[in-house]
Amino acid sequence: MKLDVDVLRYLSKDDFRVLTAVEMGMRNHEIVPSELIGRIASLKHGGTYKVLKNLLKHKLVHHDSSKYDGFRLTYLGYDFLAIKTMVNRGVFTAVGRQIGVGKESDIFEVANEDGTVMAMKLHRLGRTSFRAVKSKRDYLRHRSSYNWLYLSRLAALKEFAFMKALEEHSFPVPNAVDCNRHCVVMSLIQGYPLVQVKQLQNPDTVFETIIGLVVRLAEHGLIHCDFNEFNIMIDDDEKVTMIDFPQMVSVSHRNAQMYFDRDIECIYKFFGKRFNLSFEEHSDDIDNSDVDPDESSRPSFSSIAKTAGFLDKELAASGFSRKDEDEIQKFIEGDVEEDDNVFGGEHDSELCETNIKGFDSLHLDQEEPTSSCNEEDQVDENLQNSEAGQSGDPECQNSSNEEEDNEQNGDEDDTELVKSLAKQRRRAMAAARKGHKNTASRNSYKDKGGKSSNNSKIQKQLSIW
Ligand code: ADP
Ligand code: MG
Repeated sequence: MKLDVDVLRYLSKDDFRVLTAVEMGMRNHEIVPSELIGRIASLKHGGTYKVLKNLLKHKLVHHDSSKYDGFRLTYLGYDFLAIKTMVNRGVFTAVGRQIGVGKESDIFEVANEDGTVMAMKLHRLGRTSFRAVKSKRDYLRHRSSYNWLYLSRLAALKEFAFMKALEEHSFPVPNAVDCNRHCVVMSLIQGYPLVQVKQLQNPDTVFETIIGLVVRLAEHGLIHCDFNEFNIMIDDDEKVTMIDFPQMVSVSHRNAQMYFDRDIECIYKFFGKRFNLSFEEHSDDIDNSDVDPDESSRPSFSSIAKTAGFLDKELAASGFSRKDEDEIQKFIEGDVEEDDNVFGGEHDSELCETNIKGFDSLHLDQEEPTSSCNEEDQVDENLQNSEAGQSGDPECQNSSNEEEDNEQNGDEDDTELVKSLAKQRRRAMAAARKGHKNTASRNSYKDKGGKSSNNSKIQKQLSIW
C-alpha cells in the first residue's frame, strides 16, 4: 500500500469529518453501518454518501455490504487521521520518503517547520500474514476490544512509552517525540541497521556494547525480545542505538529466560558470522577449570540482578497501562502459540530490509479543523475531540448499547493521557529541535547505494507548498 500523502491536500473538512465518524463507529462495529456514519457525522447539508464515495475512491475506507451496507477504515484512512492530528499539533509539516519497511510497520521521514527531520513509524499489526491475523481473530474472538487498528494503536503507545522510559534511563534509543493512534514520531537515527554494515573498525567493542545493553535492560527489568541486527542501528562513529520496542516484556514474564537467551544468541551468532568474532564458550558440562567464567561465558539470565517493575512509573506516565500491556501480550502470545518464531520474527531479511524510495511530496493543510456543525450535542463534541487527536481508539465492541457507547469519548484515562502526552510532546519537540537542528537524513544505506535526503530537499518541498 502506498502512502500517497498528496491526497491529503484534496481532502475537505467534510471528508475528515466523515472519516472520523467511521473511526468512531469502529469502536463498536467492525463494519460501521452507513446510516450510523451519517448520524455521527451529521453533516450540515447531508451528503455523507457522496463523501464516503470520495473516501472510497482514495482507499481511505473499505466498503462492505455482505451483511449490511457499511464501511470500515483502511490503514491508509487511519494513517491520514494520525498524520492530520500530528500536523494540527505542530509536530511536523511534511512527510518525506519512506526509509524503512518493517515486518509490521512503515517508516517515513517527516520534517517540521524548522526543517528538523524526524522519523514517523506507522504500525501495521497483522499485515504480514493473513493466516496469523485470522488466528489472532479467532483467538481473540471473545474479546470485547479487539480489532487491528486498536492493536496497532496499542503497539504504538507501547513503543512510545518504552522509548520515553528507556531514554530517561539513558539507554541509547531514539528521542520519542509524539504518539497518536498507530503513529509514533521519534528522532531520526543517523545510521544504518547493523544488518547492512559489512565492516566495523571495532567489532569487539560494538559487540560488548550491544551485549551490555541486553544485560542492562534486564537489570532494569526488561527484555527486548527482538534484539537483532535489524533493530540495532549504528552510525559512522560506531555508536549503537536500539529501536523497535512493541514486543518488549518484563523479566517476570514466564518465558523471560528464553527471550533473554534468544536475544543474546542472536547477537553472538551475528557477530560470529559477520565479523568473525570467536567466543570462548563456557559450558557446565565440560571442565572449565582454566576458564574464568566471568570473561568467557555468555551473560546468564539467572545471575543478573534484576529489578522488575523498575520502569513502571515512567511507562504509566506515558499513558501505557498494565491493561494495555495485557491486551497486547495476549495478541502477541496468540502469535507465539501459532509460530514460535514470531517474537524474534525479524529474521526474514527480505521482509526486513530497508526499502528506499524517492520522496513523496505532500501538502498538509495546517488549518485547525473546527467542526462545521453548530449543534452542541455529544456526537459533535466527540468529533471535535477526535479531530483534535484526542480519540483514535477504535475498539471493536459487539455490545448492544452501541450508539450510546459510541458517543462516549475521552474518559478520565484519556484526559490524563492527553495531558501527559502534550507535556511530553513539548519537551520532546524542544529536545528534537536542540539535538537535530541541522540534521540531514543520514540513512544513506551503505550497501544499498541509496541516496540520502537532506534538509534542503525537504525545505524546497515545503516552499513549493
Ligand atoms: P518494525 O517493528 O516493523 O521492524 P522498526 O522500528 O524495526 O520496525 O523499523 C524498521 C526499519 O526502519 C529499521 O530497520 C530502520 O531501518 C528504520 N528505522 C526505524 N526507526 C528509525 C529511526 N528512528 N531513524 C532511522 N531509521 C529508522
Ligand atoms: Mg524492526
